[in-house]
Amino acid sequence: MAKKIGILGGTFDPIHIGHLRGALEVAEQFGLDELRLIPCAHPPHRQSPQVSAADRLAMVRCAVDGVPPLRVDDRELRRERPSYTIDTLESLRGELAPDDQLFLLLGWDAFCGLPGWHRWWELLDHCHILVLQRPDAASEPPQALRNLLAARSVGDPQALAGPGGSIAFVWQTPLEVSATQIRERLAGGRSVRFLVPDAVLAYIHAHGLYPASN
Ligand code: ATP
Repeated sequence: MAKKIGILGGTFDPIHIGHLRGALEVAEQFGLDELRLIPCAHPPHRQSPQVSAADRLAMVRCAVDGVPPLRVDDRELRRERPSYTIDTLESLRGELAPDDQLFLLLGWDAFCGLPGWHRWWELLDHCHILVLQRPDAASEPPQALRNLLAARSVGDPQALAGPGGSIAFVWQTPLEVSATQIRERLAGGRSVRFLVPDAVLAYIHAHGLYPASN
């Protein structure tokens, strides 16, 4: 039988409950066999992460430990080149059966930035895109995405068929949490308890990450 695999890429600097609830809820909603969290090494579209790739990976590992079907996939950290999603999809496709379904999860903000991505128009050749609504997101998509949405979006996410090619919007428990906000709180010496899993918080403290900047 065809497998269903979801992927959520990100800087995860650090991973937080917004990522994790989105991943888990999509996994449940779509009956996914696996939902892979894929930390990126050299994010092409943004500033360098504040902590090392090894620490970001370790925090993702702490967060998903014992939470099936969430898993960590470290392929982007093993690559020398920038973390282009199209390369990741091609590499994953090389390991899957042709009829396996691949779902790329993107927060609304990430989805709106798609036209700046390397070979972005090829992404749907390899996967479906599931757009996670974020409470802090603007509501209008950029002009460059309107035609794509008109051609490829489906109203009922459960009707997504085949290995890829469509876009659907999914609703998760709205959590107005971002890694930026978490880094700011830590820099200000404030608590981030319950915004990240306890195991991640323990890792942050044990390794002296995101020190207060007073
Ligand atoms: P930063 O604040 O550093 O930009 P972030 O919190 O947006 O980080 P990323 O690691 O950049 O986290 O995000 C990875 C993916 O998770 C992106 O697709 C992003 O849109 C999505 N995402 C992040 N936070 C949330 C949230 N609270 N709800 C839904 N999706 C989210």
